[in-house]
Amino acid sequence: MKSWADVYLPPVDNRFTFPQLSLFNSASGIVEQLPDQNIFRMYVCGITPYDATHLGHAATYLTFDLINRYLRASGKEVLFVENITDIDDPLLERAHRDGVDWKDLAQSQIDLFRGDMSDLHVIPPYKYIGAVESIPLVIEAIQQLLEKGLVYKVDNDLYFSVRTDPQFGSRSHHSLESMLEIFAQRGGDPLREGKRDPLDPLVWLGKRPGEPSWPSPFGEGRPGWHIECSAIALNYLMVDRELEYSIDIQGGGSDLIFPHHEMGASESTLISGQQYARMYVYAGMIGLDGEKMSKSLGNLVFLSRLVKSGHDPMAIRLALISDHYSSDRMWNDEKLRNATSLLNRLRLALSKPEVAPTQLVIVGLINALAENLDTPSAILTLEEWCESTENGSSGGSAGELARAIDLLLGVSI
Ligand code: ZN
Repeated sequence: MKSWADVYLPPVDNRFTFPQLSLFNSASGIVEQLPDQNIFRMYVCGITPYDATHLGHAATYLTFDLINRYLRASGKEVLFVENITDIDDPLLERAHRDGVDWKDLAQSQIDLFRGDMSDLHVIPPYKYIGAVESIPLVIEAIQQLLEKGLVYKVDNDLYFSVRTDPQFGSRSHHSLESMLEIFAQRGGDPLREGKRDPLDPLVWLGKRPGEPSWPSPFGEGRPGWHIECSAIALNYLMVDRELEYSIDIQGGGSDLIFPHHEMGASESTLISGQQYARMYVYAGMIGLDGEKMSKSLGNLVFLSRLVKSGHDPMAIRLALISDHYSSDRMWNDEKLRNATSLLNRLRLALSKPEVAPTQLVIVGLINALAENLDTPSAILTLEEWCESTENGSSGGSAGELARAIDLLLGVSI
C-alpha cells in the first residue's frame, strides 16, 4: 500500500552525543534502555480505516515518530512497519450503518489518514501494509501453525490454541477474569461453543453471507485480527532468526495491550520459534474535557477538522506531545492555545539576529528524549530558552536550534 510523503530530517552537528534511548516496557513494567545496535525493528499497529484520524490516533503515531526520530538522529537505522486493517468487523459495520461500500469507506479514510500524517510531519513507514494485500501471508502463517497442530476448526472458522504459548499472559499481566472481560469487549468471543479455551483467538473467519471473503486452503473467508499483524511483522521487518527477538519494539495505543498484542505475540512466537518483541511500548489514551474520547460518546476530535478550522498542524503536534506519551490525558482548547502561543514565541525568537545560547538547550532536548521520551521537560527547556532570548540574552545559533527542534520533536519552525 502507498505510504505518504517522506519527511526531511535536518542534520545535527556531530559534537552532540546521543545516550541510548530508554523506554517504558509494559511487559517488564520498567523503563529499560534499548541495546546498542545499528538496526532497530519497530512495528506499530495502524488504524482500522473508518474514523481517521482522531487525536488518540494522532498521539499514538506521534509517540512512535519521536522514537523513530531519536534513533535516526543518533545514527541508527530504523525498520518501521505499520499496518492498516482494511478489512475487519468494525469497518464492515460502519459501512453497513452508513450505506456505503466498505472498500470506498476504507479508501476515503486511508487517504485522509495519509494527509493527516503528512500534516503532522510523521515519518512514513518504509512498509505500509494493508490487511487485504497481506492475506497470502496470513494464510501462510496459519498453515505454519496448522502444521504444528496449534490451530483447530469450529464450524468453518479456525482458532489458535493460545495456551500452547507458555508465555501467554506474561506481556499484559491480567488476571484470567480480567482477560475474559477485556477479550469480550475487544472483538473476542469467549462464549463461543466448541472452542477449546475461551481465550483462543480466531485466525480465519469462514465466509459469512453478504460479507467479503477470499479463497484459502481452509475455505473462503478472511483473516482474524491478531494474525494479520503477526504475519505482516514477521514478513516485512527483515527478521533475523539469529537474534533473541524478532523485533525490538511493538507499539500502539494502550488499548492494544490485551488482547491484540498478547495474542499476536503468542502467535508470532509459535510461528517463528523466536521471542517476539523486546519491548512493548504504548501511548496513553486521550480524553476530551474530562471525559473519555470515544466513538460511542460521539466526542472524537478529528485532526483534519482542527486543521480545516485554521489550526497549525505543528501547534497540534506540540500540544499532543506537551504531556508524557504514556499518560492517559485530556485534550482541551487551552492545551492547543498554549501550544500555539509557544510555537509563535519560538518562531519569533528564532528569527531574531541574536538569540540566547543554544548548545545546552539542544543537549537538554536530547537528554530529555533519551529518558523515556520526556517531552514535557523538552518543552520546558524551550520555554526557558524563549524567555532568555526575549530578555536579550545572546550567543546562540538560531539555525542550529531550529534544526534540532525539527529533527527531534518533528516541529518545523
Ligand atoms: Zn496490530
